[in-house]
Amino acid sequence: MHILSKSTYIKGLQCEKALYLTKKHPYLRDKLSLEKRAKFQRGTDVGILAQQYFPGGVNMTPNSPSQFPKRVKETMENLQNPAINVMYEAVFQHNDTLVMVDILVREGDQWRAIEVKSSLKLSPTYYNDAALQYYVLHGCGVPLSDFQLMHVNADYVKQGPIDVKQLFQLVSIMDYAKEQEPIIAANVERLKNVITLPHAPQVEIGSHCHEPYDCDFLGHCWKNVPKTKTEFTIDYKALYAQAPTTKPRHIAYLNTLTYMPAVPELDGTKPYQPMTLAYALTGENEPDGYSFWSCLDDHSRWQEYLSLLEERFKHYDLIVCFEPKNPIQSSKLFNLYEVLQNAQMFHPFLKDGFNLQNTAKALFHDAKLFEHSRILVEAIAHELTSYEQTKDDLLTENEMIKRIYQQFFK
Ligand code: SF4
Repeated sequence: MHILSKSTYIKGLQCEKALYLTKKHPYLRDKLSLEKRAKFQRGTDVGILAQQYFPGGVNMTPNSPSQFPKRVKETMENLQNPAINVMYEAVFQHNDTLVMVDILVREGDQWRAIEVKSSLKLSPTYYNDAALQYYVLHGCGVPLSDFQLMHVNADYVKQGPIDVKQLFQLVSIMDYAKEQEPIIAANVERLKNVITLPHAPQVEIGSHCHEPYDCDFLGHCWKNVPKTKTEFTIDYKALYAQAPTTKPRHIAYLNTLTYMPAVPELDGTKPYQPMTLAYALTGENEPDGYSFWSCLDDHSRWQEYLSLLEERFKHYDLIVCFEPKNPIQSSKLFNLYEVLQNAQMFHPFLKDGFNLQNTAKALFHDAKLFEHSRILVEAIAHELTSYEQTKDDLLTENEMIKRIYQQFFK
């Protein structure tokens, strides 16, 4: 059996203690947030779509971890089989390190390896992870014509069925991977040794706990942070410098449900283009104290919210919201997400993400909120039936937006 994999190697580069805990004490791991789960799912969906770029391949994905040795053997046999020209998730092992290559394409006597990323840009971590794969493939003696990273093309505009050749872009990292080989080899030895230690290595908490990824053991390692660091802080001078210049007479609270599909869903849209599928506006000039709009039953109407909101905004001096991905432009908008961040608001809860849920938890002990991403996932999954639920969820969040605003500005 293998000792390291692509994910444990990347984890070990971030923090040796995180690697050790993953291997020896996985039960200490934090619960997976819905946001993280959705991100994994998005990666898987994009990976499957990317296979269409090189159709007709043999899928080597094992059904369970116990099948890894069998798949390693079959992958090596398939390399010699002239009837097989493309493999998906081919499994290789070298120096106790196991990797699964997203796509492997025969090119004459050689193979081209492709690692698929669902993002628009390539980060240094992606290069590191591809370099590890190159190290393993090279160690297994696979003759490589190229090693490429495939990622989503930000300029692609959907017109008709998805054109995978346009949706994805390929970037060669072969030279980088060759250059990195001795460094990777040294890292693999170092990280293999970490796992054999009798105790977890002593690593202090720090910014590396969030870079390049939020560590899975934040709950475990940060639980004993001294009291002084657990307090709420904010730069009040910076906060009030952003306050509305004249006291607003009519205030409304706005909350949107904004969806950013990696693979564009509608003609004329691009990858990750924000699409607002619903909004709730709470204010004294709304017919029932609120107005709610959604196009969950027909996403093609997603741009309607712009003119509807423009009209509603006329009835207010200030529109308060908490929008990490602000989909609306208006001089009346008062985005608490930006305002509180500009004022350097700090609380340990916010280390898990600067979002409405954690901000409310940090300010009010009785705050009961669900993850905003859960509203989105449920609204999209249930389509029509979720109309009432989405409305209630967004209005509940609006109450919290109002409470946060009043906490500081009233
Ligand atoms: S929380 Fe920080 S110190 Fe603890 S394992 Fe993770 S990265 Fe390492």
